[in-house]
Amino acid sequence: MKRPCAIIGHRGARGLFPENTLEGFAAALALGIDAVELDVALTADDVVVVTHDPALNPNLTRDTHGAWLEAPTPSLRLLRAADLSAYDVGRLRPGTAYSALYPNQSPRDGACIPTLDAVLRLDRLAQFVIELKTLPGEPGRTASGPELAEAVLATADATDATPRVTVEGFDWRGPRHLHRTRPDVRLAWLTRAETVRDAATWWDGPVPADFGGSVPRAVAAEGGPVWAPDHNDLTHALVDEAHALGLQVIPWTVNDPADMRRLIGWGVDGLVTDRPDRARAIVADASAPYR
Ligand code: MG
Repeated sequence: MKRPCAIIGHRGARGLFPENTLEGFAAALALGIDAVELDVALTADDVVVVTHDPALNPNLTRDTHGAWLEAPTPSLRLLRAADLSAYDVGRLRPGTAYSALYPNQSPRDGACIPTLDAVLRLDRLAQFVIELKTLPGEPGRTASGPELAEAVLATADATDATPRVTVEGFDWRGPRHLHRTRPDVRLAWLTRAETVRDAATWWDGPVPADFGGSVPRAVAAEGGPVWAPDHNDLTHALVDEAHALGLQVIPWTVNDPADMRRLIGWGVDGLVTDRPDRARAIVADASAPYR
């Protein structure tokens, strides 16, 4: 039997709408996808806000006068949540390499960095994949994994969203803390080549050599249920190995149609993509009967 493949919009749907904004999440969910992925950080006053970067991103941030920010920009951990309404993140800065990556992103001028609370209240049925953006190699630059995980769960509980969230991180301290303290929360374990190579920093204890070099076995030892690898690191054999361990495999960030088709053929359980519109068409086609 063919496994269903979920479509998870990366940062909302970064290829189509401004990333990690209320406007972008609403538009992404309107595409009829299974979940949206988003990134979170803690402000100076310990509010969970939705943003990818530890400091305001000059590729997409303007001040109240409409001027593009120049690096070095303020760190999220030093700003208060109320300060964030002063910044517009609804458009990519023209002429940047970053904007060239997303030529089909339509702007939403006036969009701000939202709180997680506001995002979870946006849609009472939607599924959310929440990535804890903590940097264990740079203590103090972000909150710690357990600290951010606790704050995220407090927000999810307050908005009755906990049964609809998955919490994940490259820094395994946050998900591991929840595995111990909140077994009701669905977890995903992010990996990429750099974090596997430097597992001592990112995994805080186990290293791949403890599992014969097998990353899926390391994820299974943490309790699973989801392994979220960089799709460039994935092979058909690794998908099969993870499935044999009882894991689901949900690679990121898959934007090329040929990659989508190949991964669906390998039986992945979901795709995290900047182009959920494209993935939706391909998944629908792949699950169609022979014609
Ligand atoms: Mg992310």
